[in-house]
This record gives sequence, C-alpha cells and structure tokens, in this order.
Amino acid sequence: MTGLLQSSERTVTVVGGGVAGMSAACALAEAGLRVQLVERRGYLGGRASSYLHPGVDEVIDNCQHVLFGCCTNLTGFYGRIGAADRIHWTSEMTMIEPGGRRSALGPSGLGPFTLPAPLHSMPRFLAAKAFTFADKLALGRAFTALMRPVASDSTESLGAWLRRKGQTKGALDRFWRLVIASALNADVDSIALPYAAKVIRELFMNSAQAGSMGMSTVPLSELYAGAAEFLTKNGSSVHFNANVESAAWDEETSQWTLVTRNGTLTSQFLVLALPFEAMAKLLPQMPPAEGADALAAQLGRHEHWPICSVHLWFDREITTLDHAVLLDREIHWLYNKGQFQPWRNGRGSYVELVVSASRGFAELSREEAIALAVRELREFFPEVAAAKLEKAALVKEMRATFGVPPGIDASRPAPVSPWTNCFLAGDWTATGWPSTMESAARSGHLAAEAICKSIGEPRTILNPDLKPQGLMRFIR
Ligand SMILES: Cc1cc2nc3c(=O)[nH]c(=O)nc-3n(C[C@H](O)[C@H](O)[C@H](O)COP(=O)(O)OP(=O)(O)OC[C@H]3O[C@@H](n4cnc5c(N)ncnc54)[C@H](O)[C@@H]3O)c2cc1C
Repeated sequence: MTGLLQSSERTVTVVGGGVAGMSAACALAEAGLRVQLVERRGYLGGRASSYLHPGVDEVIDNCQHVLFGCCTNLTGFYGRIGAADRIHWTSEMTMIEPGGRRSALGPSGLGPFTLPAPLHSMPRFLAAKAFTFADKLALGRAFTALMRPVASDSTESLGAWLRRKGQTKGALDRFWRLVIASALNADVDSIALPYAAKVIRELFMNSAQAGSMGMSTVPLSELYAGAAEFLTKNGSSVHFNANVESAAWDEETSQWTLVTRNGTLTSQFLVLALPFEAMAKLLPQMPPAEGADALAAQLGRHEHWPICSVHLWFDREITTLDHAVLLDREIHWLYNKGQFQPWRNGRGSYVELVVSASRGFAELSREEAIALAVRELREFFPEVAAAKLEKAALVKEMRATFGVPPGIDASRPAPVSPWTNCFLAGDWTATGWPSTMESAARSGHLAAEAICKSIGEPRTILNPDLKPQGLMRFIR
C-alpha cells in the first residue's frame, strides 16, 4: 500500500467501513474528492454485516437489521450505491401471544375511508386482542401526550414518564418494553424520553410511509458491497484488513499520515467513523490537541447493550408470516427469512429469532439459548412441534448498540473534532437518533458536509426528514 497522492487533489481517508464510514466515503466521492476507505476487517458493513457461519455452513447476518421509512439518510445512501431495490417493505406488524392468538397492527382504512395520520393505525389498534380495554386507554393517553415533540433537553427517563402516565401492566409489557425498549435496545429506565418519543412519532404517528419497515432481501455484506463498487467507479479506493493504529498531522504539508499494519496512507482530510470504544482506543495514538481530553471524557460515558439472535433451520415452513412480535417470552422478534429472501427457499425454512437488551439471555450457553428459543417458538407456532430442527446457530453481539440514557446528548460530539482537518462520524456522534444504521448514515453525511464546507464548497448532503402527514402537519 502506498500513501502517495497528488497534492493538487483533495484527498480524504475515511477510517471504518461501517454504515457511517461508507456513507461519508460515498458522499465525498460523489462531491469529487478522492477517498480512501480503510477497514480493519476483510469486508464492509461493520456491525451490520453477514458472513459464512462455519457451524451451519450458511451465510447469516450478524443479526437481522431492520430500517423504517423515516430512515431517509440510510435510504439515500442505498439509493447512491444502487441498493434501494434490495429492500422488502412491509406495513403490517403481527403480535402473537403464547398459544397463537394474533393481533395485527399497522395502517388500515375505516371501511372505504383512509384515516389521516396519526389516526391511520387506530382501527387495528382498537381491534387488537393483545391489549385489554384498560391497556388501550392507557396507551391512547400516552400517545396523545407524545403527539407534541418532547423538549430535547428533558432529563426524564421513559420509565419514569410511563409511571407518571399510569401505564397498565399489559401496556408496559406488551408495548413499551417489547416494541419500544427493544427498538431502542435498553431498559425503559435507561432510555431518555425524547428518544422514545421520537421513535413513537416516527413509527406510529407521522405517516404510514415513515412507519413502514424494511428488511434486506440479500445478506447485509452483499447489500453493502455496492459501496465498494461505487467508490472504485468514482476514482476512490477501499483498503481491507487495514487496522489503523495511529495518526499524525504534518503542519508543513497539511497532510495526515495513518499507520496500519500494511503500510501508511496519507491524505489532507480524515474522517474517523469508528464505534465509540474503537475511537477511545485510537485517541491516545492521535496527536495532542486541545479538546482531546474532553472527547475522551465523552467517550467514557457511553455504554454498550447486547443483542442476541438464534438462527434455526427447520425441515418445513412453520409460518407464512415474514416477521412477528412474540409476546410475554424471552424471544422478542421472529424473522422468517425465506419470506423476504426467497432465494433461500429450498427444502424447509430458515427463521431468525432476536432477543434485544437482554443481558440474562446473553449469559446463556449456546445449548441453553437454542433449547429455550425452540421451546418458546413452539408456544407461538404449533407447526414447530412436528418440524425437525436441522441446524441452529446462536450469535451474541455484546457490543451491539450504545445506550441513550437521559443526558447522553452531552456526550455525543458534532463532526468537527479537536484536530485540524479531522472529522468524526459513527452512530454514537450527535445525530439525534438512537444507535441505528440511520444514525450512522446521518453521521457520515454530516461529516461529509463538514468537509465540503471546510474546503469552501458547501453542499447539502443530509437527506431531509419525511414531512409529517395528515393532522400531524399541524402539530408542532
Ligand atoms: C446485533 C445487532 C442488531 C442490530 N439491529 C439493528 C437494526 O435492526 N436496525 C438498525 O438500524 N440498527 C441495528 N443495529 C445497530 C447498527 O448495526 C449500528 O448502529 C450501525 O451499523 C453502526 O454503524 P457505524 O458505522 O457507526 O459503526 P460500525 O458498524 O461499528 O463500523 C465501524 C467500523 O470500523 C471498523 N474499525 C474499528 N476500528 C478500526 C480501526 N482501528 N481501523 C480500521 N477500521 C476499524 C470496524 O471493523 C467497523 O467495520 C444493530 C446492531 C447489532 C450489532
């Protein structure tokens, strides 16, 4: 690997091939900069990636990743790399109780009439058997209160707010803990109210389009392989298996030099698109700078939450649903992969069960976790009892996401860093979004905008939010 680049060119090195780094790199390449994307591993995607699992000889995602219509920067990035048509969209969410009783949530009309947002999901919600009348009253009260945005500096936790709003056990267990806390991947007491309010408004209130859910029709690394093609087509490059160990800034040449195990790379600009723990590790190997200690303190205040996924291959189809929310048990979400990845369909079926924010489940052994998951799955789908389990895998991601407890925004820095010509990205930086691919894509776009501005060629890269529809247009 050589680090020699024409000084007349505007060059930037992006460190980290996750969604944040890829979206920054592609936006900058489109803006005419020569980009080097540097990734420690041999493939792109970071925490959203897939690989050939040797135990089952199947390509699996490290976990099912879903997106929503409101993820405008992620979908903008997919559009840029030609991956937009590889997303399967659905608007219906099926909740299943142990025993198999189902409730469908999602937009629906009232007879021939379409209801304006935020009422578009009301008919199905009122008909949902999973909630008692008292649960529905409690949820209705909470939703009404959240129609107006919550002040972003609120220091209240979701848990404390729910207690104030007198939520019933059914509403707490079957909606707030399961749907909202698992979307934010933390306990209700560890979630800042503004983040929960944002999720509620985007997924259930602003519009049917904002709340529709997307799942990739191909393994995640294949989805993101388009980013490497996009970069090479645009005169940029991708460097795999290159762990960046240190960075130095040369004032005379106005160049950054990065040291990797394979050699050095130089460029005028640097984007560090790393997860917070990798950023904290690299920080002592960066040049001294005013503000570096404050950044270290911010990094030290972030905390990880785990996500586990159990992958099961049966000798037959156990359901025709593509996904479902599983109530009152350890397993939370079912993804029936063959339904939205039809190329997987041969004999039998492949389902993935996701357990969010559960440190207890993460402590189970492989055998215990798989046995528990199959036992519970049988309670939702009687077909499981007759089906033969052909193979199974457990994936534990202990550093899946960062938490968003009250006060966390003070520890989420903007893209401008303490160092000259160096910018920060990553899902944990200041995007206003919880730990998601959308947050990562936003951070990449914000860092790219900051570089374009600093070279005197400002441009808008951040994709705008979807506009609220119906009655939500009038609520501020
Ligand atoms: C199990 C699981 C389930 C999830 N489910 C969802 C979901 O359903 N929907 C959703 O939106 N989000 C989900 N997320 C969160 C989502 O994956 C992340 O928020 C997002 O991918 C973070 O992207 P990033 O680019 O900020 O960081 P990362 O993906 O962590 O990328 C950082 C990259 O930097 C590389 N790197 C680290 N150190 C160095 C170094 N020194 N030199 C070079 N490279 C380095 C890493 O290898 C990595 O590729 C989930 C995450 C996990 C783990």
